[in-house]
Amino acid sequence: MTIPALDMKSPYLELQEELDAVYSWFMRSGWYVLGEESRAFEEEYATYCRTRYCVGVSSGLDALHLALRACDIGQGDEVIVPSNTYIATWLAVTYAGATPVPVEPDIRTFNIDPDRIEAAITPRTKAIMPVHLYGQPADMDPIMQIAANHSLRVIVDNAQSQGARYKGRRTGGLGHVTAHSFYPGKNLGAFGEAGAVTTDDTEVAEKVAVLRNYGSQVKYHNQYKGFNARIDELQAGFLRVKLKVLDAWNERRKERANEYLDGLRGVPEVMVPFVPEWAEPVWHQFVIRHPQRDSLQEKLKKAGIGTLIHYPIPPHLSQAYSDLGFKEGDFPVAEEMARTVLSLPMGPHLTPRQVDFIVEQIRA
Ligand SMILES: *Cc1c(COP(=O)(O)O)cnc(C)c1O
Repeated sequence: MTIPALDMKSPYLELQEELDAVYSWFMRSGWYVLGEESRAFEEEYATYCRTRYCVGVSSGLDALHLALRACDIGQGDEVIVPSNTYIATWLAVTYAGATPVPVEPDIRTFNIDPDRIEAAITPRTKAIMPVHLYGQPADMDPIMQIAANHSLRVIVDNAQSQGARYKGRRTGGLGHVTAHSFYPGKNLGAFGEAGAVTTDDTEVAEKVAVLRNYGSQVKYHNQYKGFNARIDELQAGFLRVKLKVLDAWNERRKERANEYLDGLRGVPEVMVPFVPEWAEPVWHQFVIRHPQRDSLQEKLKKAGIGTLIHYPIPPHLSQAYSDLGFKEGDFPVAEEMARTVLSLPMGPHLTPRQVDFIVEQIRA
């Protein structure tokens, strides 16, 4: 049995008829950018997230970047980010001209530790950017409270958690502004690049909509030095099809995650994910920790099991951010995660038999 870390073909095959119909309709439509499909998707996704607005953009990174710009965050400002996120969270901050200020996660939940946020706030801090990492919601109530106490914006990176719930509420509508990625491997994945910003804030929604389209609302009247960051009409059409199955597919992920948890609990040296009682994760990744991670990964590979490491180098140690002057030891929790995390195969097309086999191999 060979099991890929990520099965990218089955999602298409399951929905082939509907997706092919979208494609042939689209090719004959004569309208290829910001049309009916984009508008309909924005409406449906806002409803799904229980927000007033959704603005479709070209990627998750653009969603984060334009969300920051729409909140007037830029040069001279600081934004609090997790020390253990995908680098895109940090890149959005530096794209906007601001400075990322890392805060360590709680190693049990892998999400930013609210108790450490206040120590990182300075007079220049403008926003907190929590990430719902691996499909697990961050602890939002204390984060919103800290933000209220210091008049900060909360701009959330929900790239990995479409459909997750925090205390019963969807992660798409928890912060002031939320950014989503529909990169193919995400829980709600397109067949190319796409992203979105959701919010209840009218001003922010309008500004993101203008910024994504060259800074213009009325053609050739440019209010801002904007960007070309529009959502692709074809991808919006595909996303409408996939949005209809998102909850059902997340449910399948949850079943596989419970099988992993049952099978791996108590296995020496294997640390399984911890789920707080208020969290309903959507298992974008199923991430274990192991002190001999690299040799475990090698052995699984020999058994035909693909795994991934999210992420082997924390942003503060990446070459790209050498200008910030961080060194090894500055963020020990993120560094410990980088050394020990291993993402097991996960997805809506993983089968119980495959999970059994993976568990058996890890136990061995
Ligand atoms: C995927 C991802 C992004 C970026 O999304 P793109 O659509 O690839 O630009 C941002 N943050 C996190 C946590 C991600 O996983």
